[in-house]
Amino acid sequence: MNLTKDKGRRVAAHLQGIPRSGIREFFDIVSTRQDVISLSIGEPNFVTPWHIREASIYALDRGATAYTSNLGLLELRRAIADYVRESFQIAYDPASEILVTAGVSEALDLAVRAVMNPGDEALYHEPCYVSYAPVIALAHGAPVAVATRREDGFRLTRARIEPAITPRTRVLLLNFPTNPTGAVLTHDDARGIAELAVERDLVVIADEIYSELTFDAQRVSVAAFPGMKERTIFLNGFSKSWAMTGFRVGFACAPPDLTEAMMKIHQYTMLCAPILSQKAALEALRGGAPDLARMRDEYRRRRNLTHAALNEIGLPCHRPEGAFYAFPRVGGFGMRSREFSLRLLDEEKVACVPGAAFGASGEGFMRCSFAADLDELREALSRIRAFVKRL
Ligand code: PLP
Repeated sequence: MNLTKDKGRRVAAHLQGIPRSGIREFFDIVSTRQDVISLSIGEPNFVTPWHIREASIYALDRGATAYTSNLGLLELRRAIADYVRESFQIAYDPASEILVTAGVSEALDLAVRAVMNPGDEALYHEPCYVSYAPVIALAHGAPVAVATRREDGFRLTRARIEPAITPRTRVLLLNFPTNPTGAVLTHDDARGIAELAVERDLVVIADEIYSELTFDAQRVSVAAFPGMKERTIFLNGFSKSWAMTGFRVGFACAPPDLTEAMMKIHQYTMLCAPILSQKAALEALRGGAPDLARMRDEYRRRRNLTHAALNEIGLPCHRPEGAFYAFPRVGGFGMRSREFSLRLLDEEKVACVPGAAFGASGEGFMRCSFAADLDELREALSRIRAFVKRL
């Protein structure tokens, strides 16, 4: 075998079956077009609040240019412990149960790699964030999707998960509020899922990156239920809550053995999260509560507008209770979601992501981000209206 000539064989076999992200594929198409209104990006249109940026600038000015502890700055871990205790009623020890990471993306990868053996199955609910199945496959695990349905508001219940559990199931991956559906966990559903995890001895990875963007319901984490803290890796971060996607900072909270396992991978692959981003994150936790409230109110306004308009246009849409995505049904027009999105882009210059990018059960839907500016959102909705009228 000649690895320079035989290019198909020099890429690791388990990587070859992993497709590129459907969102990325769509971005690439969008980037070749002019004057497009994009509702395709999962990114706040706000700039990071000034006092948070200033904390980074000030730290740089003072010469903060070094590595930090592998776990992250101790004062940041202390602030994270306070935040998680006050917001989620879960107590973590900053010395041994909190790891600061380069975004929730890294935390997710560490969590999966820390607990999965080759061939173990990990369950996740779908439609879901594009990374879940690939991250599990990259850890040599087997991703197993549990479909959720629009008719139930994309709720996840114990009854939906239970039939998918096999003797090889090791991990249950949860994301509430959910990207792309905006579903949240009710207290009763969370309790049922927690009881199931305890009974079937599952490790739960809870990606709660959108927790601050919960609009109506009381926020609830499975990690807070009896018997759960010791089996849950709780993930959260700053990208969405404080409009800090480019800072690349997040965190994982877990019992000491799991934190230590994640820390080992992090230590040898990432070393530490960037110090300037950690300084900014500390400022977000110390002084950023008013920013959260302001941005959440604004997203709620946009959610109300988008949800009402899509239903009125004739694209049935359940009400997103969290995150910043609407996920209307576009399946009633005799086209697949990809064709619907591409035609919308061609004919009206509005970019929304085809639901199939979020897994097979996302087919027939389309993700519209309402993290865009309000005027752009209004204009995009009026173009979608014109498009649907012609179908
Ligand atoms: N988890 C979910 C559900 C997301 O939607 C995203 C980003 O879109 C991430 C994790 C990644 O977040 P981060 O920017 O903290 O890496």
